[in-house]
Amino acid sequence: MPELPEVETSRRGIEPHLHNRKISDVIIRQHKLRWPIPKNLPSLATGQKIRQVCRRAKYIYLKLDSGSIIIHLGMSGSLRICSAKTAPQKHDHIDIIVSSNKILRLRDPRKFGCVLWQPGDIDEHKLIAPLGPEPLDDEFDTRYLHDRASKRTCSIKSLIMNSHIVVGVGNIYASEALFRAGINPKRKAGNISLLRIQKLVDAIKLTLSLAIEQGGTTLRDFTGSSGQPGYFAQKLLVYGRTSEPCTVCGNNIKQITQQGRSTFYCARCQR
Ligand SMILES: [Zn+2]
Repeated sequence: MPELPEVETSRRGIEPHLHNRKISDVIIRQHKLRWPIPKNLPSLATGQKIRQVCRRAKYIYLKLDSGSIIIHLGMSGSLRICSAKTAPQKHDHIDIIVSSNKILRLRDPRKFGCVLWQPGDIDEHKLIAPLGPEPLDDEFDTRYLHDRASKRTCSIKSLIMNSHIVVGVGNIYASEALFRAGINPKRKAGNISLLRIQKLVDAIKLTLSLAIEQGGTTLRDFTGSSGQPGYFAQKLLVYGRTSEPCTVCGNNIKQITQQGRSTFYCARCQR
């Protein structure tokens, strides 16, 4: 599943091809994604210039003059830029064609993604409005997370994965950040000192920044026609490394299940 770094990498990959381009057509081949693509999207968007290509949480949106096209990649979606002559494949559900004769094409085999329209301010959209701050924004700081954690009895892992608290900390990055911060993922959120919360905030920012940086090296793939553009193999410290030695102490990495999701951690390094 594309997580925040993949989505940000996708945004950076498509932006140069779309910024300030006029939309000349929108072709919808499959309306039935997670939510139906609005039937009138072509008439709403055609003729308008793409002013900005932005990201909020795991949503990419194309900001036009009268509103925004919101795109979510769901479980298996990917975006690519191709020439107008490139024939669509089976799971290519929507094309947004711009004035340079390039196409922004969404491929989504499992159809859990979405393409929606929001007139006016994007922050008022029902999917966007309830979201917490961006993890890389200054608003997400030690004081903020400590306040949100106080008196909470849920695990620290489930707190940082709660999109009302902070967006974009998916299952992989939660395990990785907690390892970097030396915090046991099972620990109650409300029981963690300010100093350790500070370490965690720094670790979340570092983990996501490194992943975005790593994704940047795959940008050329966005104009290719094969593979999974924007998805990248990552160097992970604990995630998926069950029974392998911890990179710090050599102890075996443990795997447990929390809220139905796998958690990976080092019981010696993380307290
Ligand atoms: Zn260790």
